[in-house]
Amino acid sequence: SFKRAYNFNAGPAALPLTVLQKAQAELLDFSDTGMSIMEHSHRGKDYEAVHNQAIELLKELLAMPSGYDVLFLQGGASLQFAMLPMNFLPAGKKAGYVMTGVWSEKAYKEAERLGQVFVAASAQEGNYRRIPAAQELQYDASTAYLHITSNNTIYGTEWQEFPDTGAVPLVADMSSDILSRPFDVSKFALIYAGAQKNLGPSGVTVVIIRRDFLEQADKNLPTMLKYGTFAKDNSMYNTPPTFSIYMVKLMLEWVKDQGGLTALYRRNQDKAALLYDAIDASHGFYTGHAQPEARSLMNVTFRLPSPELEKKFLDQAKKEGFVGLSGHRSVGGCRASTYNAVPIESCQALQAMMLAFQQANA
Ligand code: PMP
Repeated sequence: SFKRAYNFNAGPAALPLTVLQKAQAELLDFSDTGMSIMEHSHRGKDYEAVHNQAIELLKELLAMPSGYDVLFLQGGASLQFAMLPMNFLPAGKKAGYVMTGVWSEKAYKEAERLGQVFVAASAQEGNYRRIPAAQELQYDASTAYLHITSNNTIYGTEWQEFPDTGAVPLVADMSSDILSRPFDVSKFALIYAGAQKNLGPSGVTVVIIRRDFLEQADKNLPTMLKYGTFAKDNSMYNTPPTFSIYMVKLMLEWVKDQGGLTALYRRNQDKAALLYDAIDASHGFYTGHAQPEARSLMNVTFRLPSPELEKKFLDQAKKEGFVGLSGHRSVGGCRASTYNAVPIESCQALQAMMLAFQQANA
């Protein structure tokens, strides 16, 4: 017997125990084939079924309208920072970026090497505590696309409502909050997400792309850098990361078993509320980094009164079985990532630990 850690890692992050157990049970003999899914050809029917089930489940869970393709890529969300402008930022056009944190900055800088970009709005002042309001966004009808980061993993801020950009294609990096709540896919021309938070293990990046947008892509790119290559061959032009995609399929089945995105959204709200309540009721002992109206349900960021107390808190948390609570170096302090697979019991335990620590040290 063993004890599961209270895993608050920012990514790669906690996976549901039942998903891990299913993978374990199927590891040596997948579906009576006498071998692991890892050992199957990606061209064989056994793997192909897994691959297509993952795509269909994602479409179903996100209530994706027709006219969209789901692609499996490699290179992480970071490769998307470059692939997006390579495909969709032609000479003579400009792409707009909404700056809400380090990942938006990285996306912007990568696009800047490849074409013309502009800042459509920025929340940098005050170190990314907020999300710009829709009225703040500055762009015009000729904008190639508008890029947002739906959840800012490092700062713990999250878009509460996505902007309506009309004919201007809206693109989102949803790496750290996809599948955490229902949203309207039809607002977006392209969505990308590294898998290693809510979708599964690292090694695969999911791209959701609207076909009419895809048609506008640059055709003169290296084969592996064209979204069209992946769309045309159902993400099997070359060998896909089969085991990661298999794990994504298990995760999506789990999401469905939990009651889908509406149920998970409710649970994520309850989980985050436990921690935000502990912050808000602490009379300033804990201070949240994000402005309350921009608070993320996935990454709860907070500070203690001094670096010494932060160190003491993190040391004690470690002793009590909590993992991954150090804040990112650009914010400092603490961060609890409460992705879909983090059970409410972990958040209850952390809330109790925060209260006890405050009582002993305030
Ligand atoms: N965007 C966001 C919002 C992220 O949280 C991360 C990783 N933490 C990235 C992009 C980079 O992802 P990857 O490591 O898959 O390239």
